[in-house]
Order: sequence, then structure tokens, then C-alpha cells
Amino acid sequence: MDVNPAWLLFSDVRPSSSWSGVNNVEFVSLLNTPPIRRIREFGALRLLRRLHRVTHRLPVQLRPVERKRILVVAPHMDDDVIGPGGTLALHRRLGSEISVVFCAGGASPEDDRTRKEESRQAAAYMGFERVEWLDFPTGAMALHEPGIGARLAELLRDIAPDQVFCPFVSDHHRDHTAAAMGVAEALTLTGWSGDVWCYEIWSPLWPNVAVDITDVVDVKRHAIDLYASQVKGLHYTDGALGLNRYRALRVYVPYAEAFYVANAAQFVKISRQMNTV
Ligand SMILES: [Zn+2]
Repeated sequence: MDVNPAWLLFSDVRPSSSWSGVNNVEFVSLLNTPPIRRIREFGALRLLRRLHRVTHRLPVQLRPVERKRILVVAPHMDDDVIGPGGTLALHRRLGSEISVVFCAGGASPEDDRTRKEESRQAAAYMGFERVEWLDFPTGAMALHEPGIGARLAELLRDIAPDQVFCPFVSDHHRDHTAAAMGVAEALTLTGWSGDVWCYEIWSPLWPNVAVDITDVVDVKRHAIDLYASQVKGLHYTDGALGLNRYRALRVYVPYAEAFYVANAAQFVKISRQMNTV
């Protein structure tokens, strides 16, 4: 098995149950021995210094929404409104055509039925024109990145959007990273050119664009609440709108959604580079 040296620096998790005859406990204690630990800390510190420089060079621009044809790639049924829900509501006011594709199905047949019904209600409320479900296994999308890329490529050709919305590759959820990598694959397969708007769910990203969603914050709140089975377990609505309040501080409005916006070529490059770290 090939071992990525970067993985030795940044991960406590082994990629499989056997590597060079070393068992899991031995491997974790090896990673925590003083010399290896110093190397890992040095690597992490160097990465943080680079990120610090990057974030300070990336100004956040408050941008108005323009009427477009949009494809939203959502890993799970609810990410479409938790992430860019306010911006999508503003798009609908302007008459933008919005298609949403959900990559993962539910965790069980019953969960799948419930979440699909919730996603239909939320899509109707938001005014999304078209909704697609790809039904890849939730929690295991990383095993299906080429398949996700191929299905997204079909949709890109069919819908021919001006803009694509998707999670950022460094989002702290494996399915969200897989969705971003699936988009990168689809862009490569189709040669689509346009802007990719990366939204944030489980990790704040380094934004270069913010959208003032103050006028539609109640629309976003209600759309998230329509995913009743999800908000019952975790306070997604408060969490998402709290993040929007925080993002707004940098651009002096009451509520804002933050994005990393890149053209297709830049998005493919940054996604592939960050996925190797
Ligand atoms: Zn999700």
C-alpha cells in the first residue's frame, strides 16, 4: 500500500486495518512518540502559517445576487438550505432557475422516505424548479467519487447552469468533501466553465464573497425548519443563522452568507490540492 507522507503528519486514523504488520494501537503510539510528534507539529504549524498568510490576502467582497441558472449540489437533504439557503431565496426573487441535486440517500428506507418528503416540501417552499436524488450511500460517499462525478456531469450537460453551488473541499464531513471532489470530477469531464460558489456547513471556510441575506433570513429559517427530522436532533437553524450573524460582522450588515467563489479551473485545482493534505 502507498502511504502519503502528509497523512503521517496530519492524521491519527490509519487508512486500513493492516499496514506493514503494525497493529492499530502500535501505530497510534508510534505517531505519538516525541520525534514523530515534533515532526507532525512542525508540519501543522507550517501549514497554519501559510493559511494565515492566505486568509489575510483574501478580501471579502459583499456582492449582489444576479439572475442566473443555478445547479446546487447538496451532499445531504438539508445542506441546500443550511448553507446557501438565503442566497438561493434572493435568486428566486430575481427569477433565477434553481435545480438541486441531493447526492446521498437516507440512512434507512424509513429515513430515506422521511427526508425525501421533507426535501420536496422545502424545495416547493423555496421555489426550486427541479430536484434530483442520486441515492449514494450516506456516510460512504467517499467510496463513490467517480460515480458521483459521472452523474453530476450528466446533470451539468442537461441543465447547462451559469453557476454551481457546492460544499468546500475542506468541509469537516467526509460526504461533503466527496461531493466537492465529485463536482471537480464533473467539471473535468464536461469542460464546463463558470463560477463555483462553495458554501459552508460543518467548517467555516475562507471566504472571498459575502451575500447580504437580511431580507430573506426568515425564509431561510423556515426552509431549514421544514427538515423537521433533522432539526429535532440538532439545532441546525440556530447554528446556521448564528454563523450568518458572525459572517455579517465583516461586511456591516445584519445577516450574511459567506462563500469561496472560484472559476471552474481554479476550483478543480484547489480541490485536488487540498484533498492531498
Ligand atoms: Zn450534509
